[in-house]
Amino acid sequence: MIKVTTSPTIRLDSQVKALQAAGHTIINLTVGELDFETPKPVLTAVAQALQANHNKYTTPQGLPSLRQAITQYLFKQHGLSYTPDQVIVTNGAKQALYSAFQVLLHPGDEVLVPMPAWVSYGEQIHLAGGQVVPIQLDAIAQSITERTTVLVLNYPNNPTGAVYSPSQLAILAKLAEQHHLWVVSDEIYERIIYPGTTFQSFGQLYPSRTIIVNGVSKSGAMTGWRVGYAAGPDEIITAMTALQSHLCGNVNNIAQIAAQAALQLDDSIWQTFMQQLLERRTTIMNWMKQQPQLQCIPPQGAFYCWLNIQGVTADSEEFCERLLHRWQVALVPGKYFGQDGYVRLSFAHSLTDITLALQRISQCVDSYDIL
Ligand code: PMP
Ligand code: GLU
Repeated sequence: MIKVTTSPTIRLDSQVKALQAAGHTIINLTVGELDFETPKPVLTAVAQALQANHNKYTTPQGLPSLRQAITQYLFKQHGLSYTPDQVIVTNGAKQALYSAFQVLLHPGDEVLVPMPAWVSYGEQIHLAGGQVVPIQLDAIAQSITERTTVLVLNYPNNPTGAVYSPSQLAILAKLAEQHHLWVVSDEIYERIIYPGTTFQSFGQLYPSRTIIVNGVSKSGAMTGWRVGYAAGPDEIITAMTALQSHLCGNVNNIAQIAAQAALQLDDSIWQTFMQQLLERRTTIMNWMKQQPQLQCIPPQGAFYCWLNIQGVTADSEEFCERLLHRWQVALVPGKYFGQDGYVRLSFAHSLTDITLALQRISQCVDSYDIL
């Protein structure tokens, strides 16, 4: 039987939900899932689609109108020029990544993954027969061998919130081109950018061999609708579409209509989301100033704080267990992202929960001095 482990973020979130269901009051800052409601125009579009009996298969690649909306969105946001044929709609960004690795990799191919990295890349690459090569960005050139075929990029980054600058991106694009690498650019947090940072899509720099991955989970606060997409060169999208035709047929028809409405939303809804995220981020950064034993580089994007807890302990799992069992706050151990001595705090949750959680994290940190 094939060896595959459960996503640790999802496992942890499920454990916390089970504890909550058993009556424990736990503040759950594990999962990266925005607490905002699905925007009203999306619900209206869905209600209309239900009335109009949208109950049939769609083409495996996705509804043409949705793919058109995706190309318009990518052009408006990032000046990218894709045709609807160069886009595939998937069950979340997760499936876009999975399918991209399946069609790109041959057994034994090496895939460069900058660390720390989101929890699913490793398993997805293994499932496609590839080998993960964990890298530090400044040492990337030394890690390239004749077996290297893919570079994975993820910015804004989960878990650090870091965003590559245009000059870093230019170096990466040059390197990828020199070594004829495919680049899987996971841009799912592309809309969550804080003041002072600019986002540039990798598709602008290296379109011939970049597969952009995105979706509405984060930008539409629509995690449960499970709509993601990939945009890239024709041959890759064609192969991913063929795979999709055997794998799941297509993404749920109604969910595709919901995603289309989300992509066409007025910017003002997004601005309201961003104001709230900014307020949460500021609250955490102000709290950090009173925490001499903790360090955190302010996230430039996404909704995670990557807390360096090495002033307290090097063992992120022990820290999270202590915090959960004694202070009823759940965070994700950095170990799951390939870097112990850190924990990830998701601020996709309410300010009330965050404020209470911060007080308790301080108490947990203090408990190490007492012992
Ligand atoms: N990439 C990253 C970096 C993520 O954090 C997530 C969140 N689950 C995904 C991909 C997958 O998102 P989706 O919900 O669209 O599958
Ligand atoms: N991306 C989110 C997270 O990292 C959702 C959970 C998952 O898909 O792993 O928390």
